[in-house]
Amino acid sequence: MDLKKRPCPSCGGTMTRGTRPETITLGGHSLTYDQPGWHCHDCDDGIIAGADNEAGDAALRRLKEMAAGA
Ligand SMILES: [Zn+2]
Repeated sequence: MDLKKRPCPSCGGTMTRGTRPETITLGGHSLTYDQPGWHCHDCDDGIIAGADNEAGDAALRRLKEMAAGA
């Protein structure tokens, strides 16, 4: 079994491992970062698990600093 593919729990389609640009906004500031995770090719679903969340946490910390005027 290909470790970079898994079935989508929502639609049964094909999910692959990769990054996709994700934009978060806070207090009028926005930040786009590369979010690693599983993304479905057949619907718009995605799975972000475990260490993948660290990218989002880091981006959120940076955005909070920007919003605070740092
Ligand atoms: Zn799907």
